[in-house]
Amino acid sequence: MIDLHLHLDGSLSEEDFKYLSKLNNIDLGKDFPSNIYVPMDCKSLDEYLERFALPVALLQNAESIEYATYSLVKRLADLGLFYAEIRFAPLLHVNKGMTQVEVVKAALCGLKKAIKECDYKIDANLILCCMRHACEKENMETVETANLLSSDKVVAVDLAGGETIHPCSYFHECFAKARKYGLNITIHAGEATGSDEIMRAIDEGAVRIGHGVHLSLDMFSVKKVNNAKISFEFCPTSNLQTKSLKSYKDVPLRQFINKDIRVTINSDNMTVSNTDCIKEMAVMVKTFKLDKREVIDIYDNAINAAFTSDENKNKMRQTMLNAFSDLMLEKLNLK
Ligand SMILES: [Zn+2]
Repeated sequence: MIDLHLHLDGSLSEEDFKYLSKLNNIDLGKDFPSNIYVPMDCKSLDEYLERFALPVALLQNAESIEYATYSLVKRLADLGLFYAEIRFAPLLHVNKGMTQVEVVKAALCGLKKAIKECDYKIDANLILCCMRHACEKENMETVETANLLSSDKVVAVDLAGGETIHPCSYFHECFAKARKYGLNITIHAGEATGSDEIMRAIDEGAVRIGHGVHLSLDMFSVKKVNNAKISFEFCPTSNLQTKSLKSYKDVPLRQFINKDIRVTINSDNMTVSNTDCIKEMAVMVKTFKLDKREVIDIYDNAINAAFTSDENKNKMRQTMLNAFSDLMLEKLNLK
């Protein structure tokens, strides 16, 4: 199973919080652990994003970042994932003097250590997020860092953060540089905003859209996303919590499938949203009565959209067919 849209800072386990609290001598607050999850009646994307302050404060040195990445990959392997793309914004982790390159190198250490310990049953790569609230200098450093480490499991750049603040066209210089370097681009768009922002993201070179649930399904838009082979990274529970959508039934999964738009199902933030990508697929199976063939098609979209080599994709297609054990079928609500 695969997760293409998964934030490191939103996915620390309760045990990780406790360990990192001791390591960094930072108090977790009197409401811990309830303060690390959002309730389903969370008011907005802004309230949702407030949950990231504590994990970001805990991840300001190499040891903590290495540990958090290691722990996440191990948990993903335990869940039955064979591939994940983990994203985070290195510019948020430099408050104690590390450079963005040092931050990402620490994450790569944890990532590779966990993959090795799992006997390579799982593979994982990193996506580096630029942030909408950050200045061009910081975001440009993220693009440069991604380029520098692109041969070492850093596979793409992203744009994250409060979507309503600045449209992605404000970041044109950064994405022009990313395109010049040949970096893959995915952009959070059409979560808190509408179809126009998705179109702007595609114009900036995004081949994947984070969320994108508010894509207008008119002929022009559908033609544009299908001609450009754009894949969408849906994260249903997160969308309900941020009030991007009202209920699971509002996830436009069937509409996208009917228009042949490439759609994938992901977790976004395992801790903040108290979920994982298997649970997210299971709720989609239940809501839309998906059959096994349709679930395989969605995973196939994820394999095709993954920022990895064709050789790895071929291996993943084989692994996926063997991954539908009785236990996995039960977890996915297919049995
Ligand atoms: Zn996200």
